[in-house]
Amino acid sequence: MVLSVSEVRALVDEYPRTPVLATIGSHSALDVADGAVTESFPSLVIAEEGRDATYARYFRTIRSPGGLRRRGCVDEIWTLPKFADLATPANQERLRRHGALLVPNRALSSYVPLATIEDELRVPIVGARAMLRIEERSERANYYTLLEEAGIRIPRRISSPDAIDSLAIVKLPHAKRRLERGFFTAASPREYRRKSDQLIAQGTIAKDDLATARIEEYVIGPVFNFNFFFSPLHPRPEGLELLGVDERRESSLDGLVRLPAAQQLELPEASRIPDYTVVGHGTLTVRESILEEVFRIGEQFVDAARARYPPGILGPFCLQTCLDRDGRPTVFDVAARIGGGTNVHLGLGHPYGNALWRGPMSTGRRIALEVRHAIDTGRLKEILT
Ligand code: AMP
Repeated sequence: MVLSVSEVRALVDEYPRTPVLATIGSHSALDVADGAVTESFPSLVIAEEGRDATYARYFRTIRSPGGLRRRGCVDEIWTLPKFADLATPANQERLRRHGALLVPNRALSSYVPLATIEDELRVPIVGARAMLRIEERSERANYYTLLEEAGIRIPRRISSPDAIDSLAIVKLPHAKRRLERGFFTAASPREYRRKSDQLIAQGTIAKDDLATARIEEYVIGPVFNFNFFFSPLHPRPEGLELLGVDERRESSLDGLVRLPAAQQLELPEASRIPDYTVVGHGTLTVRESILEEVFRIGEQFVDAARARYPPGILGPFCLQTCLDRDGRPTVFDVAARIGGGTNVHLGLGHPYGNALWRGPMSTGRRIALEVRHAIDTGRLKEILT
């Protein structure tokens, strides 16, 4: 049975006065921990054995003898055998006793089963628990459905491989590294068959996944990931903020585009089809006249999310877009939680967030500020699910 919002919100009645901002140790955990301590909350990172050194060693908080934070931003680290162990009854109890408010990221929804998060995880989430599932392209109701309801432009869907009539992108998971992508492009049914056969033979994609893959128009234009924040604590006209914009570095795609065409053609066949593995991020701003439209789609998304998944989006979300030659965004992916590229602004703040908040405002800090504001005004429960 899906946990009710009121049941989760009631959990904080037993919490200590200062909650701890907790997150899973991967993805954007440093931004969240940095933001938490900047706003004077203790930070907790829940890591997995064998991949915890970033937090446990390199960014761990070191205090002066007087207790002042001298270095680092990860106050506490719990290293578990597996990320999913955070949902065992004992660990849930431990998190609650600790006063943990969990900031969801993609690592949470990738490594802890969504059904566990929805039905069993009795730890308050700062954000929209019920919307984590929309990221699963295999779900019948997913982010595409919501974007359509919101009236936001999405890439045209192509019904089958035989209907491919222009450059298309085929979206399916990687055959072995299931959290990674096995995407490829094709401009005709023939190219689809040739490339899919080759990728199956290489072990990059699995035949079974092709049957459920989404095929859509490949939007020509640079990628802009818009990092928004929605606060239900402000009057609705002030609720939506644009904090910043990031772009990704994807391997091997970004390496291939740095090669001149002549060298690309010299590559062995197997290296010519790019992989879309995200390996880093960069920062961007957008031509200022495009901002009106960016805010418009942000507002449409917030309204549609409130209607379909009440109480709707809470806190950060990211609309991943390609901008066409008219500067129009087409949204090809959505994160209904902190985006994966927000570390580019860690500590420095996002350009637009800084302009708005008159000081360095990263996404992590904005989350902590929201929790602080909610506590100060007695409205903490309104931002939890
Ligand atoms: P995603 O997994 O949806 O974040 O997409 C991974 C990458 O695929 C993006 O960063 C884009 O470079 C590319 N991509 C996804 N969908 C499209 C599309 N419809 N048109 C063009 N590029 C796309």
